[in-house]
Amino acid sequence: MTQLSGKSIVGFRRGASDGDPIHAINPATSEELEPAYHSASRGEVDEAARLASKAFETYACVSGKNKAIFLRKIAENIEILGDELVARATQETALPPARIKTETGRTCNQFRLFAALVEDGSWVDARIDRADPNRQPLPKPDGRSMLHPLGPVVVFCASNFPLAFSVAGGDTASALAAGNPVIVKAHHAHPGTAELVGLAVSRAVRECDLPEGVFSLLFGPGREVGRQLITHPLIKAGGFTGSRSGGQALMKLASSRPEPIPLYAEMSSVNPIFILPSALCERSEAIAKGLHASVTLSAGQFCTNPGLVFIPHDRSEKLIDRLGELMATTSPFTMLTPGICSAYREGVEKLCQNHRVELIAEQKVNEAGKCLAGAALFQTDAISFLEDQSLCSEVFGPSTLLIKYSTRGELIDCARSLEGQLTATIHADEEELNNSHDLIAILQTKVGRLVFNGFPTGVEVGHAMVHGGPFPATSDGRSTSVGTRAALRFARSVCYQDWPDEALPEELKNANPLHIWRMVDGQTTNASLSDKL
Ligand code: NAP
Repeated sequence: MTQLSGKSIVGFRRGASDGDPIHAINPATSEELEPAYHSASRGEVDEAARLASKAFETYACVSGKNKAIFLRKIAENIEILGDELVARATQETALPPARIKTETGRTCNQFRLFAALVEDGSWVDARIDRADPNRQPLPKPDGRSMLHPLGPVVVFCASNFPLAFSVAGGDTASALAAGNPVIVKAHHAHPGTAELVGLAVSRAVRECDLPEGVFSLLFGPGREVGRQLITHPLIKAGGFTGSRSGGQALMKLASSRPEPIPLYAEMSSVNPIFILPSALCERSEAIAKGLHASVTLSAGQFCTNPGLVFIPHDRSEKLIDRLGELMATTSPFTMLTPGICSAYREGVEKLCQNHRVELIAEQKVNEAGKCLAGAALFQTDAISFLEDQSLCSEVFGPSTLLIKYSTRGELIDCARSLEGQLTATIHADEEELNNSHDLIAILQTKVGRLVFNGFPTGVEVGHAMVHGGPFPATSDGRSTSVGTRAALRFARSVCYQDWPDEALPEELKNANPLHIWRMVDGQTTNASLSDKL
């Protein structure tokens, strides 16, 4: 059993314990959990950044094979935590043990996926344009480029994924895979989970003989410790998952530094679902059940939770009745934090007060003071929706708004009015989909992932996944925070011109000693340059 210390992890050293203390709170019982967590001092923030910057010189040059060993070791060390991790994360989040176990599995698989990526090595996107000394009117130089890491990355833990988007979450895995040291700012809601995972990562750093600054974990309020980290001159990028206000505050800090840096923030998304008439006629019951499951999964505390559902006016009755019945009989949920619970209640109350919106079903919760929230279902019509932009706001929790459209034009106008989203979903039969080029063309510009006849919750960790989208879903719609493409956000291209072969990185040498896939004179090949292409 690990003795939790309540102190930051600064390289291989533990932080001091004289900073302002905070306690995790068990949202199911409101009890304070031991130990107290002490805020990192400004000196500790600075030390973590200096160690990371120093470590970068070495870690950036570690081979893909050795980085893979390190990433797999992290996964192993997290798995060793077993029931201890499940018990602490359950206490701190009120998420059920089964969910914590699944999330742990996902977190470890994520590290193994990145390990396989860097072991293979082709992800660096090596490109070679061979020289042509005889080119007229000027000789063509030899140009070779590949991706290199950025430098120390700060990662802000999310409240709603204590493992998969926290200390050893997607941002940490992708930043480490790309060759960057990471400093994590723990979330105040689950510091014990953070410490356990942080110790597992730190142990892997030692076991792999890597420099200590490759990983640090700092506790303390985002507005102080987080701000100090993102504005520290030695930090070169950041990753964040959380509120729109928090994300935008950090975006502003990152871009107004003397040396602006990228801050990849995933913030708010209402994940619209578009149900077309024939699909609703044919599958009303299945859609109602699927929607209910998706909206209420983990108390709706998912960034991919479907918050808006567009349905055809004249066929909507059956779906509304069935979904209303399911929502009204759903037991209340314990939410992650008192703050998230009160934000949800306020969001529901705001919709109840909106004269354009009708409440269809709400599970009332009468136990004041507890972190409990009931599922809620609302409806409005497309014209009202188009008149009131506030209806597009995220209500983080188990609620959704049905919007009844009367004409195809209304549906298209609604789609056009949406802000950037992580996902959009279309329910349609084959013919309807074939006739939906107008809708699809709009949605392609609005989202990172288009789902067909399914539901957006559940984000597969793979090579093709895009978990991103235009603002305000994220700060940079060109990127993803899930899947192996995420390594690209923490890397940049460097081109070597007329560089001697022996001085080039292995990935760009003529002999292609790593046998990676490269683009040579426009053709993709894993051959060496002496082989026939
Ligand atoms: P949050 O308040 O944005 O916090 C996320 C992280 O950022 C925490 O580490 C926090 O530090 C830090 N932070 C927040 N504001 C900051 C600022 N101004 N400067 C520097 N750092 C800052 O998010 P949350 O606590 O997870 O949840 C609050 C709300 O965010 C929810 O009610 C929900 O609406 C939304 N949310 C959305 C998603 C999504 O994926 N769409 C996910 C989670 C939450 P502290 O630990 O000190 O607070």
